[in-house]
Amino acid sequence: MNEPVLALDANGRVTLANRAALELTGQAQLPAGRPLIEVLRIPALDDAVTAANRGAAAAPVEFQLAGERPRMILAHVTAQRSAGCVVVLHDVTEFRRLEKVRSDFVANVSHELRTPVATILANAETLAGGALDDRERAPEFLEAMVRSATRLGRIIDDLLDLSKIEAGAYPLEPQEIPVAEAAGGAMRLLAERARAKGVELRWLEPTEPVGSVWADEHALEDILGNLLDNAIKYTPEGGHVRLTARRAGAAVRVEVADDGPGIPPHQRLRVFERFYRVDAGRSREMGGTGLGLSIVKHLVEAMGGRAGVDPVEPHGSCFWVSLPSNRTPLKTR
Ligand code: ADP
Repeated sequence: MNEPVLALDANGRVTLANRAALELTGQAQLPAGRPLIEVLRIPALDDAVTAANRGAAAAPVEFQLAGERPRMILAHVTAQRSAGCVVVLHDVTEFRRLEKVRSDFVANVSHELRTPVATILANAETLAGGALDDRERAPEFLEAMVRSATRLGRIIDDLLDLSKIEAGAYPLEPQEIPVAEAAGGAMRLLAERARAKGVELRWLEPTEPVGSVWADEHALEDILGNLLDNAIKYTPEGGHVRLTARRAGAAVRVEVADDGPGIPPHQRLRVFERFYRVDAGRSREMGGTGLGLSIVKHLVEAMGGRAGVDPVEPHGSCFWVSLPSNRTPLKTR
């Protein structure tokens, strides 16, 4: 049996434990004859053992095992017909973590949707309450409604993309794509935005030929588009954005570097999380959903690559993705 199991006598003293139980409870050898409360120090578990030994039904007990890597344990206590009882320990740490991720996610989505919905409602009510006849101000309220509805649509599109990628339902058809061509395409799409913002956007020719990446064309466009769009968005007027690529073993590393504000060290990993923003107000103001980098990371990983961000001195960020340069099977879930 792989589950950690302990057998106890009628007095709640340990008689047997399998290897998994010894490992989980951090015992070097069988604590034979010792009361369970000494071994695990969980009063609720001890109560369940006492109840089981008296013939009462014992409800499962959940508790945390302290240690370097704290574990959440769900224990089932079952009385034995002869005497004593058996305690089966289930490690539910990962399960509880995923539950928390899911509930945090639902809370985040609700929060993100609430603001634009409230704006639409408030403006519609103002119009209905008489502002519709105010020729000068009515367009303002309507514009605010359109902006919020657009934002809602964008959040929903991004969420759907993310859930498709996660479910393996995003149609990825990898092929050999010359990196310089993909970079050129992405640059053309964003050139106008960069110009309008007064940010210089340039492709730095690699010192050695980089060849191709094995990627889905549409996904690669999304990835580069997202990184360039962010770089332009967060770099103030007069700033510079550089796109370049280089070979890194069996992969090609594509980099988007800017001399914008950069990202504080403790937030560098977190910006790839859903809805995580360094400055939430600023991101929303610029029409961001907080989901772009999360989509980038998911797409890159689904194609067998990695994504990250490094600081640029004296200030700025270098977002990079590394993608396989040769035919690679898609990551299956
Ligand atoms: P958003 O829609 O807010 O841009 P992203 O997932 O694309 O969402 O990015 C998450 C956050 O990471 C942004 O809100 C911003 O705080 C930060 N960020 C992304 N790219 C850059 C960059 N080039 N420079 C500085 N901060 C950035």
